[in-house]
Amino acid sequence: MEQKPIKEQIGLLIGLQVIDSQIYVLSKEKASMPDHLRSIDEMIELKKTGIKQAEDNLKNTQLKLKEKEGNLQQKEEQIKKLQGQLYTLKTNKEYSTMLTEIEGIKSDNSLTEEDIIRLMDEIELAKKKISEEKELFKAEEANAQKEKENINLKAKEIDARLSELNEKRNGIAPNIEKQVISRYEKILKNKDGLAITCIEDGSCGGCHLNLPPQVISDVKLREDIVVCGSCLRILYIEDNVEIS
Ligand SMILES: [Zn+2]
Repeated sequence: MEQKPIKEQIGLLIGLQVIDSQIYVLSKEKASMPDHLRSIDEMIELKKTGIKQAEDNLKNTQLKLKEKEGNLQQKEEQIKKLQGQLYTLKTNKEYSTMLTEIEGIKSDNSLTEEDIIRLMDEIELAKKKISEEKELFKAEEANAQKEKENINLKAKEIDARLSELNEKRNGIAPNIEKQVISRYEKILKNKDGLAITCIEDGSCGGCHLNLPPQVISDVKLREDIVVCGSCLRILYIEDNVEIS
């Protein structure tokens, strides 16, 4: 089989690159989607855990309150009991000892009452905060759901576009010599989706390094595939090709 002129092949590669650049961008976008979806789920889980934690803290505070209230009740009953016994005491000393004991319990109780008030305030505040957070979470969860749906929708659009582009690609690729296209595809894979690039003002359009005059004249000769010595991308020069 007669080999197609390099000039013609370069033209086909340029057309292919236009398609492959789009494929590259779309594939990259699609590849980032699972991570994006995961990060949305993680954010929601984190918020759920935060609310659960706040609810657990509230439960603990409520238990503490119950304990304090029980304790207070017990102490008040004790005071009543001691007050009842006051009148049965025989000596002044016994009487004043018991009075001191009662006063001691009373002052403990007033501390407990302060604790109870503090805990009740704490509980009220926590309940308010939790209900606000839950309300906020509802909206965030709905937004997250919507965002995920949008991503999935976008993924479908990308898939449709990719299959269109691949179809176009398959219309061009078989017309290029096997070793030329395999070389091109290897560069495409290794060089961020850009395998063939134009010489701009004596520099490589891919890596922007200055090209030696010899390389530029080799490109102009269009007798062989010429690559940039630095980034190894295939080079072409505008007025040197026929774009198919
Ligand atoms: Zn280069």
